[in-house]
Amino acid sequence: MSKVAVVTGGTRGIGLSITKALIAEGYQVAALYHGNEEAAQKCAAETGAKVFKADVADFAQCQKTVADIEAALGPVGVLVNNAGITKDGMLHKMPEDNWHAVIETNLTSCFNMCRAVIEGMRARQFGRIINISSINGQKGQLGQCNYSAAKAGMLGFTRALALESAAKGITVNAICPGYIATDMTSAMPQEVLDSIIRQIPAARMGKPEEIADMVAFLASDKAAFITGSTMTVNGGQYIAA
Ligand code: NDP
Repeated sequence: MSKVAVVTGGTRGIGLSITKALIAEGYQVAALYHGNEEAAQKCAAETGAKVFKADVADFAQCQKTVADIEAALGPVGVLVNNAGITKDGMLHKMPEDNWHAVIETNLTSCFNMCRAVIEGMRARQFGRIINISSINGQKGQLGQCNYSAAKAGMLGFTRALALESAAKGITVNAICPGYIATDMTSAMPQEVLDSIIRQIPAARMGKPEEIADMVAFLASDKAAFITGSTMTVNGGQYIAA
């Protein structure tokens, strides 16, 4: 089994915790980032991950980056599609660019990255693909038609690719985090965060490590029979059937 893992958005926030958790499990990790050089260099120095700069919304860059990773580290066994952005606003005020940017960075990126690794995984008869969706892809969220659509789209993508890949030893699963304390959520006004916490039965936000632990489990041999699933990690905020 290949012990090379790729984590998009792997140098900061939830992705950095995923990078650390997979390194602790013995993986060589390639952590992708987009623009934050400081966070990327800090991640490389502190964790030993190899960092690669690429825009996950760009098909050609994803192809090239996966080829560079495989040349440097070997065949990719685990892919975590974690990179994501928000550009919130009510639909009646949403600029067209904010629709396309969020769909391309959160959803098209899954196609771009999976397309780059899937043929190799099929040939080697092994792979683990883990897509980081969101509670707001499950339940919808006002001001997030773009983000909720992208994150719900990831769930359909996960199920279809799971069906295509199961006979080839590849599992494909999604994780839907609830609200997790990272740069993404610290950008929200404190009164909004306080009102969200009041809606969480566990009465707190989640920690990035709690998502990373689920990723490490789904990547492990123990999860070999789990595919096409949506794992909810949200403190009880939204309990889906
Ligand atoms: P952060 O904003 O803290 O980090 C986002 C990461 O994605 C960064 O590493 C960033 O790179 C990278 N990234 C953004 N755009 C691109 C791009 N075009 N190409 C490559 N990399 C890119 O986010 P979080 O850690 O909070 O979120 C991680 C994932 O979890 C996202 O998909 C998010 O939607 C999802 N999620 C988060 C929740 C939360 O409460 N935080 C809740 C539910 C889901 P760089 O550092 O270079 O900018």
